[in-house]
Amino acid sequence: MGANLVDFHCHLDLHPDFRAAIRSAESARVYTLSVTTTPQAWPLNQELTKNTRYVRAALGLHPQLVADREHEFDLWEKYLEEARYIGEVGLDASPKFYKSLPQQIRVFEKILKRCADVGGKILSIHSTRTSAQILMMIEKLFPENRGRVVMHWFTGKKSEALRALSLGSYFSINAAMTRTTHGRSLISALPLDRILTETDSPFTSNSNASPQPNDVAFAVDAIAQIKQMDKSLLVQRIHENLKNLVSP
Ligand code: MN
Repeated sequence: MGANLVDFHCHLDLHPDFRAAIRSAESARVYTLSVTTTPQAWPLNQELTKNTRYVRAALGLHPQLVADREHEFDLWEKYLEEARYIGEVGLDASPKFYKSLPQQIRVFEKILKRCADVGGKILSIHSTRTSAQILMMIEKLFPENRGRVVMHWFTGKKSEALRALSLGSYFSINAAMTRTTHGRSLISALPLDRILTETDSPFTSNSNASPQPNDVAFAVDAIAQIKQMDKSLLVQRIHENLKNLVSP
């Protein structure tokens, strides 16, 4: 099959069978970042991925849960030392979560500060309707030499995407993004060396079937079309990008 696919943002622990989802990603040899939504999920995620070759877990505190779980920041902080990858973290100002935005900002600020203190972390960032705020916070609190950021399912303006690039950010792109005009125009503006792919599974689906590790190929196909390039070359580029991102 050539180079390995990369799914840099999915929720394996929310699949119907977490352990089976890890096994499938391993046997499909898809480099997978399994993000979490609460630090309570970390110990099991950590346990199940400590000896895997392709699957890594990320320590998260999802902005959509912060309204009820702000107090779990202490737990997040407790596990920080054990985690190389951080996510899902960020902000969400969509109508349903707008009310908790001040709390979300408080938590995300602490997360960025702690990650900058410790250094070497790679963050998968949720930025729904908050890209300007997110970029302002990264600029202020998370210097490029203290870690790396990956914008997950970025829907901000093109000018904001360019600003994120100038801050060293990568972008993990899913198939849903390739189906909107704005998404396609963003993808054409992103340089090839900052592109990663993701599924955000089980929250996006390409069929009625249960999510499969190779589903990330839908994103690859669509990006290859937008970039008008050979699919296997793109897969190689994305794999190289992943290596560059994770190499210290
Ligand atoms: Mn997600």
